[in-house]
Amino acid sequence: MSSRTLSIETVSCPSCGAPTDFNPEDVLVTCQFCGTTFTRGQQEIPDHKFIVPKYSLAEAEKKIHDWIREKTRFRGVKSVTLIKSEKLLIPYWVMHSRAITNYRGYRRETHTESKTVGTGKNKRTVSKTVVYYVPVNKTIDEERHDPLICRMGAVLFGHEEINKRVRELVMNQDFEDFSVEALKDAPEKVRFLNGEIKQSEAKELIETYIQDEHRDRARADTTELFDCRTKIELKGMLFLHFPIVYAEYQYGRETYRVVMDGNSGKILLAELPITTRFRIMAELVTFITLFAIWGAAQLIIPDAPNTFNNSVLSFFVVSAILGLIGFKTNSVAWSTESRIREK
Ligand SMILES: [Zn+2]
Repeated sequence: MSSRTLSIETVSCPSCGAPTDFNPEDVLVTCQFCGTTFTRGQQEIPDHKFIVPKYSLAEAEKKIHDWIREKTRFRGVKSVTLIKSEKLLIPYWVMHSRAITNYRGYRRETHTESKTVGTGKNKRTVSKTVVYYVPVNKTIDEERHDPLICRMGAVLFGHEEINKRVRELVMNQDFEDFSVEALKDAPEKVRFLNGEIKQSEAKELIETYIQDEHRDRARADTTELFDCRTKIELKGMLFLHFPIVYAEYQYGRETYRVVMDGNSGKILLAELPITTRFRIMAELVTFITLFAIWGAAQLIIPDAPNTFNNSVLSFFVVSAILGLIGFKTNSVAWSTESRIREK
C-alpha cells in the first residue's frame, strides 16, 4: 500500500452525514448523496451553482452513439461499441468582479490626403500619405464573471474545449443554484470531481488572467503602450459544477474518446478512426485539389512547350511527397460543427 492511499481521510458530510473521502490533494469534496460541497474542515460552500445538465446518462449515450455512427459511416465503419461512459461534474471557481484598466500610449495612423492642383488642362489630383501619432488615454471598465477550473492534476480529455465552453456560459451567467434533483440522474450515478484549488488561490489566478487580458487589449489598441494599470474590485466568488459526458468506444482493436457538453448536448471533442477507406478518400481529395491548382496555374501562366514536361513531373513529385506526409501524420482536417481529433 502506498503512502498516498494511507493518507485518505474520511469526513462526514455536514448536511447528510454520509462519509466522504478526501484524497491528499483535495481541497473541496462534493457529497455523492446530497450534492453538498464542503472543505476538509466540514465547512459548506454556500454559493454553489451549476450549469444545468439537460441529458440523462442514457440519453447522452444514445446521442454520442448516433453522432459517432453518423461521423464514421462514410469512413466505412460498420459498427461501434460504447465501452465506457460517465457523467462527470467538473468543479470551477467563478469570480464576479468589476475590472477597471487605465492605459496610456499612442497609436500610429496613416491617412491618404488628396487635393486638386493646377487649373484648366493641367488640373489634376495628387494624393500623399500622412502619418499621425494619436495619443491614447483610455479606460476599460467592465463587470465580469471569470471561471477557473478547480483542478491541478490529471488533464481531462478535451479540457481546452471544456474550459472554452464554460467561459462562454459563465460570461452569460448561464448558471443556476445547484440542485441535486436537477441532475437528471441519481447523484450516486454521476461523478463529482473534487476541487484541488483553494478559493484564495483561485482569486489570485483569475486576477492575473484579467490583468493579462486587459493588457493584451490595450496593446492591440496602441502602437506603443506607456502605462497600463488594472484595479479589480471583487464582487463575489462562487463555486460551480459543469456537466460533461465522457465516453470511450471501440473500433477494431483501438479505443477512441469522446466528450460531450452535458448542457447543450454538443460533442466538444472526439477521436475518430482513420480507416483505409478514409485514407484513400483523403489522398484522393488532396490529389484532385493539387491537380486543379496545377491546372489553373497552367491557364494563367502558359508554359513554353519545352518546359511543359518538367512542370508535369514536378506536379507529380510534389503530390507524391504531400501524399506521403498525409499518410504519415494522419493529419487530415475535417471541419464539422465540433472539433475532431484524428487518431
Ligand atoms: Zn451529503
